[in-house]
Amino acid sequence: MRVIVTGGAGFVGSHLCRALRERGDDVVAVDNLVTGRYENIAELETDPGFTFVRADVSKAITVEPPVDLVLHFASPASPPEYLALPLETLDVGSLGTRNALDLARANDARFLLASTSEIYGDPLVHPQPEDYNGNVNPVGPRAVYDEAKRFAETLTITYHRLFGLNTGIVRIFNTYGPRLRPADGRVVSNFLVQAMDGKPITIYGDGKQTRSFCYVDDEVRGILALADSDVVDPVNIGNDGEYTMLELAEVVIEITDSSSEIVFEPLPADDPARRKPDLTRARTLLGWEPTISLREGLRRTHSWYLEERARA
Ligand code: NAD
Ligand code: UDP
Repeated sequence: MRVIVTGGAGFVGSHLCRALRERGDDVVAVDNLVTGRYENIAELETDPGFTFVRADVSKAITVEPPVDLVLHFASPASPPEYLALPLETLDVGSLGTRNALDLARANDARFLLASTSEIYGDPLVHPQPEDYNGNVNPVGPRAVYDEAKRFAETLTITYHRLFGLNTGIVRIFNTYGPRLRPADGRVVSNFLVQAMDGKPITIYGDGKQTRSFCYVDDEVRGILALADSDVVDPVNIGNDGEYTMLELAEVVIEITDSSSEIVFEPLPADDPARRKPDLTRARTLLGWEPTISLREGLRRTHSWYLEERARA
């Protein structure tokens, strides 16, 4: 297979590129590096089955045929980053998705959209099954991301209905692991770096809000299982262990053997109070489930952060 990965130099995208190369697929990563890093894919540079194209997918995606699969992962994903790039985020969810869908259509390829648990907004149903339609504030600051992804889902299903394109939608829940940039601003990277530096751990709000954290290897296995299937309906892929941010901070302090104290800072607007995937669909349709515990995943991520520092 020849696979196009938009956002291939990002955190999840670079793991996908590597996993695809390991199973023998040819890979073209298309990325403008707005939130990604070339270092994430630098080791694939000399691999003849891998090509990197630096381009903004909101403008155009020019890749020669054949294309068998398009994984559309380009988009800022960390809240501080998408809040700093509001128009770019809206563009990549709308124009970028349209360009990626057109590429799949021109090549009669399967298309998989990287959607998000954020489409459920601040959920009123818990845990969140795929048929829950969500609770998003369309004029709140986070809407640049949430509504872009909701629009992207609508565009994707419209290409399926109108043109019979073979499409899929993966709703990714908070994923972490090696290559999550230390300065990316998401909670796992913030807490790990703060704990390693002995600096205060910044909890936003009272820390009782919950998230469900999935280790990247589990996430990538689930994404590829969905890409390899012919499932059209959205599928949640994440880990259904649920933790408060206070609990996460405690585990991070324990794993890093840190003396950091905890400090409380204001909660960002529209920050969801709780989040946990209902994984029935992934388990039933894909036979997939997460296997790596939060402790084990954080240990592996911490080891990578230590290696990164040693390399630097
Ligand atoms: P990331 O920021 O590390 O990766 C995104 C990549 O997309 C970056 O390399 C960035 O440079 C690239 N990109 C952004 N806009 C682009 C554009 N216009 N043209 C070309 N490239 C562009 O984030 P990530 O965590 O790896 O997220 C990857 C995808 O998965 C995103 O679509 C995100 O919405 C989705 N997702 C991730 C999570 C998570 O927890 N990591 C959760 C839900 C959804
Ligand atoms: N958060 C926090 N401290 C930080 C960064 C984030 O308490 O330094 C909180 C944030 O307010 C949210 C949760 O951790 O409630 C997860 O945030 P993240 O940005 O990782 O992802 P989100 O699920 O909000 O997109």
